[in-house]
Amino acid sequence: IKKIGVFTSGGDSPGMNAAIRAVVRTCAYMEIDCLGIYRGYEGMIDGDFIPLNARSVNNIINKGGTFLKSARCPEFRTPEGRQKAFDQLQSAGVDALVVIGGDGSLSGAEIFHAEHNIPYIGIPGTIDNDIFGTRYTLGFDTALNTVVEAIDKIRDTASSHHRLFFVEVMGRDVGHIALNAGVGAGAEEILIPEEDLGLDRLLDSLKRSKARGKSSSIVVVAEGDRTTGKNVYELKEYVEQHLPVYDVRVCVLGHMQRGGAPTCFDRVLASRMGVKAVEALLEGKTGFMAGIRDNDIILTPVSEAIKGHTKIDKELIRVSDIMTI
Ligand code: ADP
Repeated sequence: IKKIGVFTSGGDSPGMNAAIRAVVRTCAYMEIDCLGIYRGYEGMIDGDFIPLNARSVNNIINKGGTFLKSARCPEFRTPEGRQKAFDQLQSAGVDALVVIGGDGSLSGAEIFHAEHNIPYIGIPGTIDNDIFGTRYTLGFDTALNTVVEAIDKIRDTASSHHRLFFVEVMGRDVGHIALNAGVGAGAEEILIPEEDLGLDRLLDSLKRSKARGKSSSIVVVAEGDRTTGKNVYELKEYVEQHLPVYDVRVCVLGHMQRGGAPTCFDRVLASRMGVKAVEALLEGKTGFMAGIRDNDIILTPVSEAIKGHTKIDKELIRVSDIMTI
């Protein structure tokens, strides 16, 4: 392998820049070329490339987002689109890829490899922590810290006004952000898709905490949670009708959760995964995703990573239940 192409694709996450930096510097260390591909698969199809050397990635380890930009690219879902991308890579002399992205981006790389036999290694970049084969995805820790910081601020105003806040956090299919940040921020209740609390239990819990003298409450809701059959706004109305003692508000945190400087944890994780990705390619491996388990950097076949599901931490659910006494 003489030239590795690196790109970020799909939803961005903090730590992607640190991962690009690690890939570029490992290539420099191993004395092979590295080509940056702008805008994920879209830039690959367009041939939007930039040669990267060790100095090209100065001062980015601390930056959120991705300087190579990211995109969603419908054209890459077609064989014709993938053929164009392959032709561009060939004429640029790229003979292996490192893809940094979520399960969609990894699925794309897997199909690309099956069709065109180009070796690749994946790095799981997503704040949702929903990829099998790694205890932590890149950006999850930063997103948790962002959410906790935001909820701390909401708590200040909630307690000054005896308010109940429903705080919606990201997580379309999984409740990892909601559960972890909820425990970290001391939420009263946490609503996640994996655990069916039910409306009655939520109401009971809020009544109980009111009776025990709590003046304000924070309920963290994963955006994909429908276990109560209601979204945050409907929950607000429901609680106002059935528990009129609280002044209820809704706060949807939204895209701020994806931004910001990566935490030290994410920077270290990105650096380790970036090194592993390049080393694996040079060892002749392909079709694996770098991950972390028991503080070791491991490789999992992408075919397994995209099929498997992550499990919600049951112990953390128990801890959360005990904390809301
Ligand atoms: P994420 O990587 O964050 O999960 P997406 O699911 O949007 O984000 O995937 C990012 C891009 O990866 C898509 O826009 C598309 O270009 C490519 N991709 C995703 N799934 C496939 C697939 N099954 N076949 C080919 N390309 C895919």
